[in-house]
Formats: sequence, structure tokens, C-alpha cells
Amino acid sequence: MSDYALFIDYKYCTNCHVCEVTCRTEHNIPLDEWGIKVAEMGPVKLNGKWMWNYVPVPSDLCDFCADRRERGEDPTCVHHCLAQCIEVIPVDQITERMKLAGKTATVFIP
Ligand code: SF4
Ligand code: SF4
Repeated sequence: MSDYALFIDYKYCTNCHVCEVTCRTEHNIPLDEWGIKVAEMGPVKLNGKWMWNYVPVPSDLCDFCADRRERGEDPTCVHHCLAQCIEVIPVDQITERMKLAGKTATVFIP
């Protein structure tokens, strides 16, 4: 298991799909497969409020951009997300970051 994780806070995800496209391009992933996929959650009504979220989810094809990280670069999905939803963080910071982000955070440990 890696000492680092992809920390994803989808609160500000705009569903632009740039993470999907850049991951596909970087890793030559065919059009019918995904290294990361933005799932749509909603619209659903909860306690009178509408909820509609976009949630980027790395797949088993994600290798954490090993080549880029060996060169000291961020994964391409991290680098290209304009909303800064995806970050690389040390695994020992996960609990703290989850507490700060609240319910819109997910973690992927390669
Ligand atoms: S995670 Fe970032 S790049 Fe991916 S769809 Fe959301 S805003 Fe776009
Ligand atoms: S870390 Fe790299 S391989 Fe994994 S989802 Fe992001 S761009 Fe794709």
C-alpha cells in the first residue's frame, strides 16, 4: 500500500470530465474504459433540499500516475482539475482532512 493517497473532495466538482480525459490520454486508455470516472449522484430530494453531486471515482486502472510521480510531478488528474478537487496527501493526514472536508470527501489509496 502506498504512503500517499488520492484525496477527493467533490464539493466543487463541476462535472467538466477533464480528469477523465487527461487520465485517458496519459495512459492510452480506450474510449470504453476509464482510469477515473465522474459519477452523477442525483438529483435527489433530502429534507426538502435538492442534492445533485458529481463524484470522481478512480478505477482499478488507476496506477496513481506512477511515471509522473517518479518524475516528481502530480498525477495528471490532480494537475488538470481546475476546481482542485483532487489532491495527493500522505496517508497519515487522511483522518484530519476527512474531518475538515465533511461529507463530500472520499479517499483512494492505490
Ligand atoms: S474532479 Fe475536477 S476535473 Fe474532474 S470533473 Fe470534477 S472538476 Fe472536472
Ligand atoms: S492518478 Fe493518474 S491514473 Fe489515477 S485517476 Fe488520476 S490520472 Fe488516472
